[in-house]
Amino acid sequence: MTIRSPGEDLGGETEDGALRPETVVINLGRPAAVADGPLNVPITPASALQAGGVAGYARDGHAPWAALEEVLGALEGGRALTFSSGMAAATAAIGLFPAGAVIVAPTVAYMDVRRSLVRLQEAGRAEVRFVDITDTDAVIAACDGADALWLESPTNPLLGIADLPPLCAAARERGILCVVDNTFATPLLQRPLQLGADVVVHSATKAMGGHSDLLLGAVVAADETHFDALREARELGGATPGALESYLCLRGLRTLPLRLERAQHNAGVLAERLSDHADVSEVRYPGLTSHPQHQRSRDTLAGAGFMLTFRVRGGARRADALVDAVTLLTHATSLGGVETTLERRARYPAERGIVPDDLLRVSVGCEHVEDLWADLQQALASTADNLATR
Ligand SMILES: *Cc1c(COP(=O)(O)O)cnc(C)c1O
Repeated sequence: MTIRSPGEDLGGETEDGALRPETVVINLGRPAAVADGPLNVPITPASALQAGGVAGYARDGHAPWAALEEVLGALEGGRALTFSSGMAAATAAIGLFPAGAVIVAPTVAYMDVRRSLVRLQEAGRAEVRFVDITDTDAVIAACDGADALWLESPTNPLLGIADLPPLCAAARERGILCVVDNTFATPLLQRPLQLGADVVVHSATKAMGGHSDLLLGAVVAADETHFDALREARELGGATPGALESYLCLRGLRTLPLRLERAQHNAGVLAERLSDHADVSEVRYPGLTSHPQHQRSRDTLAGAGFMLTFRVRGGARRADALVDAVTLLTHATSLGGVETTLERRARYPAERGIVPDDLLRVSVGCEHVEDLWADLQQALASTADNLATR
């Protein structure tokens, strides 16, 4: 089955038989139609399975994951495998790199992926070339003599945009493994396998699950060799998703296009208004013309997404006061839920020196945007004294 690529006109014609992603998330991953049978693959807790099938033991494969994997694979245009968390999926992908690999990776990327790569390097098991992922020439230069390229775009938390088409092409030309963490974009905004990436990684904990109630990860492989290696890594590593989590994640995924549309709209409105606020020194959102890779985001992504960051005047103290002052937004980490959350990233030791002290990362949800804006406005107003006393 072919699926429309996300850049195509939402209302336009598709190639023969192509289902649009909005339909794929609803239509696939269903049990066979049987009279009085359920429309959804049931939640079936199981370890041992009846003999005579292909799996036999749930660590080797299980029906509730298969439904979710069918949808994910179709969305990304490859074959998907689900894991117990995004980090479990990332760890399996990192496991594809040969011993002693030279890995090119972003200086700013999801902090625990970065930490995993640093630990590999410290243990003498890999050499990591950390690069500014937005500097395409520098990334391509670093790929010479490397074994693997790890990409993330937009990056967590600074929303840097990598120019995926030339980067994936450069990896392919050099025959080096190219992995893309597509968590922030989701397959609705960007499909790296179509650009030549070998493996896509997702934290489905985030926008795919969409309700802050589960941990789940996924890899999607373009070819059989990587798929087989990743499936074996899951069997042997044992980081398998739970039956309930798989069910909830698929249920969440069915409304991803709707949630994304609303959240992205809200993010655009908030980004504009925050930019005009006197107490905000900088807003980063790919949809703003002030974003350093604004044009590139328009070229590579089908939308600007639901994540934004902003910096408040008054430093870390003001930022900490602000996350306490909001009443509708939730002070919490993670992202991609229906509820809007925010946090000061430099509160994590791993993020210090990488993100500014006064930077707040906001995961914009699906509430009414005027209610969100009213809360942000009152929180900015009620913390203004931090500005005067500084
Ligand atoms: C959260 C996140 C991960 C890790 O996923 P978990 O589900 O928390 O293990 C990986 N990459 C990115 C970009 C993330 O935001």
